[in-house]
Amino acid sequence: MNDLLNNYAHVAGEDVIQHLQQLAAPLEGIRVVHVNSTRIGGGVAEILNKMVPLMSSLGLDVQWEVISGEAEFYQCTKSFHNALQGMPVEVSMPLRKAYEATNEQTAEKHRQLLTEADVVIVHDPQPAALLKFLPGRKGKWIWRCHIDVSRPYRPVWRYLKDFVSGYDGSVFSLVDFTQVLPHPQYLIPPSIDPLSEKNTDLAVGKVRAVLQEFGIDPRRPLIVQVSRFDRFKDPVGVIRAYRLTKRFIPQLQLVLAGGGATDDPEGDAVLNEVREAAGDDPDIHVLLLPADAHVTINALQRAADIVLQKSIREGFGLTVSEAMWKGKPVIGGDTGGIRLQVSNHHTGFLVSTPEGAALRIQYLLRNREKLTQMGEKARNFVRDNFLLTRQVREYLTIILGMLRGTGERMEIS
Ligand code: UDP
Repeated sequence: MNDLLNNYAHVAGEDVIQHLQQLAAPLEGIRVVHVNSTRIGGGVAEILNKMVPLMSSLGLDVQWEVISGEAEFYQCTKSFHNALQGMPVEVSMPLRKAYEATNEQTAEKHRQLLTEADVVIVHDPQPAALLKFLPGRKGKWIWRCHIDVSRPYRPVWRYLKDFVSGYDGSVFSLVDFTQVLPHPQYLIPPSIDPLSEKNTDLAVGKVRAVLQEFGIDPRRPLIVQVSRFDRFKDPVGVIRAYRLTKRFIPQLQLVLAGGGATDDPEGDAVLNEVREAAGDDPDIHVLLLPADAHVTINALQRAADIVLQKSIREGFGLTVSEAMWKGKPVIGGDTGGIRLQVSNHHTGFLVSTPEGAALRIQYLLRNREKLTQMGEKARNFVRDNFLLTRQVREYLTIILGMLRGTGERMEIS
């Protein structure tokens, strides 16, 4: 077992790693290419940064390519994102043209790699049209959708569906997100990396130092939401929940920590809305962090009494598992992938309104024993369900099935 696998064995268990090795053995040397639209910022980049090395250390030849384009391309793909998560947005013809042109150029740039690869995993809508421009491809293509497409705006979904239909399979995080498609669909929820700087244990002194850096009082209660500044994450709703709670718990402090993703053009506008809603309250800390502030985020999640993720749509919400792994109960929006992670009344609470969130915050801050118990259950739940090793096992299984499967049977030796 190499060093990286050994480190995972310490956290996830040796049997888990042996299982991965068994699945990976028949796949040794196969070329897998992941394609997404950013190396930094957002959940997909967070996962790929860790999944690529782990799959490589299991003997697969894994590469990661990124599609990038001009402003119109991101404007278009952000509209896709909003439309797939239910907003009735029209996407104009010039934007669609920019989308297709960027995909065509990227296909051209990586033609040999993408045509020859054994497996190509394409993440989200941004690079979904690549396949259309690679007619002679040899390997299996999987479309991995990370967003909440349970109720997409139909005209936009129909447009994207044309590109996705040519894939050999697609992967969604939840059964509610699956669509009518002419190929097999698989369910694989995302996961967090227990070995990343964002999730490993931190010394109390380090946590204190981060609080001091931002002028947060370690003796007073603290609630935290970590998210890109995106309306689906409802940061303004979090401020409202904080204000409602503050009437009864005046010492309360709130941190809203976020940064931009390079493929998200709406972040600045939302950040301005958040700053306006926060006003001049010295106990609301709106932190705009650089993309590599993993230790800072780790510290803030650890310093929190409660972590919030009050999204109104959420494909998964890695921040939820990140907080739970640190023994924090999460008060999360009752939507999408948050429902997979937060077991209502056990590992946290699911809420639909700022008022609901405020009631749950008060309840937990006044019942510290309950808060601790929920946090412990939360950590165990993540260990059993949402670590990277589980996600890699499921990807390997699908890849094996696609490359070596025959009907009901799959060759692993
Ligand atoms: N994140 C970060 N810096 C920020 C905001 C978020 O590193 O300023 C991380 C966060 O810790 C999580 C990921 O980015 O690992 C966001 O993933 P999630 O699934 O919660 O949401 P997405 O941004 O993909 O919608």
